Amino acid sequence: MKLEPEMLIKTNYSGPYRIKSVLRDCTCPSYLDEINGRPTARRPHIHLACTKPDGTGAFYINGWDEQTLLSLQKSYCGGKKEIGYDQIIVLQQDRPIQGTLF
Ligand SMILES: [Zn+2]
Repeated sequence: MKLEPEMLIKTNYSGPYRIKSVLRDCTCPSYLDEINGRPTARRPHIHLACTKPDGTGAFYINGWDEQTLLSLQKSYCGGKKEIGYDQIIVLQQDRPIQGTLF
């Protein structure tokens, strides 16, 4: 699903958020590769700048595949028993979203 500014989302471990901006086609290396001195470009992914649903705060959720809405890297976030991908969950919207075609 295409993510657009103003959409309400959450992740399996945090949120809910309102998307402020979507950065697409980023290939930045993972933080871990970078601090290990082995920066390797990753497959294209998105970064989201978000606020709380009421528009306050600033949150950045980084490194997601927009096709599957799964994280590029596995984690234990959200109290997983086994390491796995994180997920963005699109919530029911409370206002019309500009730019969507459905
Ligand atoms: Zn990136």
